[in-house]
Amino acid sequence: MATVSGVELWQWRLAARQQAIEADVPVAEVDWLLQDIAGLDRLALRFDLFKDRRAIDLRIALSELNQLWQQRLQQRVPIQYLAGTTPWRQFSLTVSPAVLIPRPETESLIDLAIAATQPNLSLRDGQWVDLGTGSGAIALGLAATFPNAVVHAVDTSAEALAIAQTNARQMGFESQIQFHQGSWFQPLEPPGQLLSGVVSNPPYIPSAWLPDLQPEVTLHEPHLALDGGTDGLDCIRELVTTAPAYLISGGVWLIEMMAGQSAAVVELLQAQGHYRDIQVHPDLAGIARFALAYRV
Ligand code: GLN
Repeated sequence: MATVSGVELWQWRLAARQQAIEADVPVAEVDWLLQDIAGLDRLALRFDLFKDRRAIDLRIALSELNQLWQQRLQQRVPIQYLAGTTPWRQFSLTVSPAVLIPRPETESLIDLAIAATQPNLSLRDGQWVDLGTGSGAIALGLAATFPNAVVHAVDTSAEALAIAQTNARQMGFESQIQFHQGSWFQPLEPPGQLLSGVVSNPPYIPSAWLPDLQPEVTLHEPHLALDGGTDGLDCIRELVTTAPAYLISGGVWLIEMMAGQSAAVVELLQAQGHYRDIQVHPDLAGIARFALAYRV
């Protein structure tokens, strides 16, 4: 804990905003950090309501806050890793460089799971799996939306799984989510058609593209969570091939993919032969980013 005057913090914020503009970082990220570290709300920040306060408590010293901010500007560390949390649906999720930062577009997977189970509500009371759970975002979204479901969260990274477990505990879903370390379906052995739904936001970026993504992604996010092999479809192929051995008849197969992959993914699903009602859904920008199908 440290204490600063309102004027001191106001001056730091002013300078930080100027630095953001110069470094081409969104100015709003200064306030993201201040909300987290100084406990100030958006209104207070927006209208400088904190400026006249004699003392403001900070979680860390102002010099440390400034060091974090310099990491954002100079090393391009994502603000979510610096703050240690990110908002996602109704949650505030803990994140670290061991996990991909959950993206807003991924929130749509949960809405699609809701819509997909509308014709057969009993699916919502079954077992679901989030493959490659990372921070646990999808598993938590499913657990909160389907309160009678049992959700399995799988990740090959023990470090990621620890973050997912922390999030489940903090959000109060520990008893509804079961955690498994391993690759895709492997920890759910032996196969049995038990699952009502398989949901995943798998790595889908072609390996050769990784060096050319934004520096925030390339330098700081786990490549394991991004790298989809030569054509980006390695993990999706695995999910298409293996899921029918685990899904009940009528069960939901639902994934996120990259722009431009939808035709290939539909073809994979058709060729596999155990899927029906294969659908592609757009993200909020109107780009086809999600594939959904039911097990025959
Ligand atoms: N399931 C997590 C998410 O959607 C992690 C995905 C990943 O690491 N590819 O954010």
